[in-house]
Amino acid sequence: MSRFQVRKVAVLGAGVMGAQIAAHLVNVKVPVVLFDLPAKEGPKNGIVTKAVEGLKKLKPAPLGVPENAALIQQANYEEHLELLKDCDLIIEAIAERMDWKLDLYTKIAPFVAPHAIVASNTSGLSITKLSEVLPEEIKPRFCGIHFFNPPRYMYLVELINTPTTRPEVIDQLESFVTTAVGKGVVRANDTPNFVANRVGIAGMMATMIEAEKFGLSVDVVDDLTGKKLGRASSGTFRTADVVGLDTMAHVVKTMQDNLKDDPFYSTYATPKVLAGLIEKGALGQKAGAGFYKKVGKDIQRLDFATGEYVAGGKKADEIVARMLKKPAADRIKLLRESTNPQAQFLWSILRDSFHYVAVHLDTVADTAREIDFAMRWGFGSQQGPFELWQAAGWKQVAEWVKADIDAGKTLSSAPLPAWVFEGPVAENGGVHSKDGSWSAAEGKFKPRAKLPVYERQAFPESLVGEGAVEPLKAGTEEFKNEEVRVWSLDGDVLIASISAKLHLISPTVTEGLLKAVEIAEAKYKGLVIWSPDDVFSAGANLEALMPVFMTKGAKGIAPEEKKLQDMMLRIRYANVPVVAAMRGLALGGGCELAVHCARRVAHMESYVGLVEVGVGLIPGGGGLTYIARRAAEMASAGNANADIFAFLKDGFTNAATAKVATSALEARKLGYLLDSDVIVPNKDELLFVASAQVKAMADSGYRPPLKATFPVAGRSGIATVKAQLANMRDGGFISQHDFHLASLIADVVCGGEVEAGALVTEEYLMALERKHFCSLLEHPKTQERIMGMLQTGKPVRN
Ligand code: NAD
Repeated sequence: MSRFQVRKVAVLGAGVMGAQIAAHLVNVKVPVVLFDLPAKEGPKNGIVTKAVEGLKKLKPAPLGVPENAALIQQANYEEHLELLKDCDLIIEAIAERMDWKLDLYTKIAPFVAPHAIVASNTSGLSITKLSEVLPEEIKPRFCGIHFFNPPRYMYLVELINTPTTRPEVIDQLESFVTTAVGKGVVRANDTPNFVANRVGIAGMMATMIEAEKFGLSVDVVDDLTGKKLGRASSGTFRTADVVGLDTMAHVVKTMQDNLKDDPFYSTYATPKVLAGLIEKGALGQKAGAGFYKKVGKDIQRLDFATGEYVAGGKKADEIVARMLKKPAADRIKLLRESTNPQAQFLWSILRDSFHYVAVHLDTVADTAREIDFAMRWGFGSQQGPFELWQAAGWKQVAEWVKADIDAGKTLSSAPLPAWVFEGPVAENGGVHSKDGSWSAAEGKFKPRAKLPVYERQAFPESLVGEGAVEPLKAGTEEFKNEEVRVWSLDGDVLIASISAKLHLISPTVTEGLLKAVEIAEAKYKGLVIWSPDDVFSAGANLEALMPVFMTKGAKGIAPEEKKLQDMMLRIRYANVPVVAAMRGLALGGGCELAVHCARRVAHMESYVGLVEVGVGLIPGGGGLTYIARRAAEMASAGNANADIFAFLKDGFTNAATAKVATSALEARKLGYLLDSDVIVPNKDELLFVASAQVKAMADSGYRPPLKATFPVAGRSGIATVKAQLANMRDGGFISQHDFHLASLIADVVCGGEVEAGALVTEEYLMALERKHFCSLLEHPKTQERIMGMLQTGKPVRN
């Protein structure tokens, strides 16, 4: 089989989904042409142009940087069908109408390249039925590709084959969607609403029915069914409002129309309240009203009894919240046995979900793994229903569900399938085992797909019961302290994993990282700083320095800060490459750690910046030194007489305004990532790519940079910045303390009171960082900012 290459993708339909899918494709550097109908008036690309413009304003941002909207090629079906011939993948995302989709397929068929994959993003139509109008030669290359909204952020993509889809086509697509697009693929059967929406929306319907039965209001239900239950924080009704009640009703209608023989059919009836809201046009967030309504600053809730909006914000009972903090087995037992109606409600919806997935497993998916991952990745649950059931004690929970079915308390009288009580699942204590996950259709445990793409994931997300090795217990351990584990998987690349809360850099972390560099130099090709969770490092741990500050004051902090700075330089000048594998937050000290590494491998969703001014401080772990050095490097790369100040301005402004990049692409624009750094779309491939970088750098004869002096902008640079800052202060745009902080930042990045062009060392600039950082610690306005942040978590403006 020759390698499937995607040189270009066509997206058909520039609506909510199509435009955002196109945006995400340019985020991950896949060339894309976006089609829509020709506009009736004005330029023929009018509809697409408007959609592309809209991408720049949409929140959450579909694009890593808004200017990348220009990379989306615009097209319409009247003038540009020829462009399809160059596309290796065509994703159809037009309005959800079978007849319109079929028309379009007929129209594009003559222009589809002989090898191209054609895939529909439909949420509810049968993929097999859609394939039926296609010419015979396209049918084997047609399947479903179901993205979730918003596609940049939702990890799930469901792939659905038809009886005529060639198996390698869907394998190729799975590999592309995983590595290049960065998504988690779940294979779904071609049943109504596929897996996530089927199970998820059935769950929301069940929740609405039970909420009514137990007389609970929408705010209480959302508090109970959000974070506290390990689900998406928006709970149930707010999720419906965000999705749009019309969209939800559409998904429900697919079930009503196509699932007449489903034992849960009666639960698919549109609830009266929902129908009423839709009739009124209260379609949720986009309409300003739904189950909730924003009135001024207040969020009011719908009162089911009167249909009026009333004051909301009621929370779950404390006793129930406490039950939800218990381990799974105790939690479910307590909920079931409690007489509290909220607890009874929660037991009921959990029971309903176990009942539902057990009854439907044989039809909707190949194994239980697909259902659990679909609920994690498509609905934001921490655990899928099967995992939770298994974690809580399979047999006991099964007995309780059965008892409720027998007592007529459940939403359907369908019995649990026999495999729940006898055979391999019962013996294993659940559907996930070391041999794979249960396939109800085939009556056996089936292992995960063996596609080569998954060899890039050393630690894919794992399910309860699979017995997967935890990353921080894997490999060969070389060193460990309370906050850092230093280990290796392959004997070539050493890994340092920070396990402290938010991976804050304390003296213990510094010790661990120094140790890692030492071991890497002695025995390995290089070092990767990587942790399995969703944060690189949120900064330096200021609280850990509190005891020193209390006893010795700011003076006591200077030597501690110097240790941090020395660690940064140790990493930069290590004899082996140190690579930062970044994901999530890399703020303050975390950002400084990353920029001192030889290279950065960053997940697309990396949030990077020097945020110290928010707490009244300046970057003091080498961040400003980095900005000064980079400016000198950039200036010298061009014209020998280039003005360093011109290259300094952006770096200065980013630090002085605590600007945080909201994607790896933006981090590159802000100068925290370099062109030579690597951006990785899939979070689970980060360690693989970072390790590959270490090996490639080592094998290419890596040498650390030579220590060198570099020129700074000096006192004239400081004077220029200060003049502008003074204007801003006098105009009331920044406070006196902001002015002070920005002046100190200017002082460091310009190299202090020296002539323009004077040569300095990193150590010299770091000493300036220390001097100003420590002076600020004693400044009352800074202390106010720090206290404010510690107490409220919000920056104080003073
Ligand atoms: P939308 O209404 O925002 O956009 C539909 C696009 O189709 C519009 O740009 C419109 O110009 C175009 N269009 C309309 N009639 C057409 C025709 N006859 N021929 C060609 N183009 C036509 O819709 P959307 O929400 O982006 O949904 C698109 C597809 O994605 C649907 O199949 C939907 O089920 C699916 N989907 C939607 C979501 C979601 O949350 N919105 C999520 C996953 C999948």
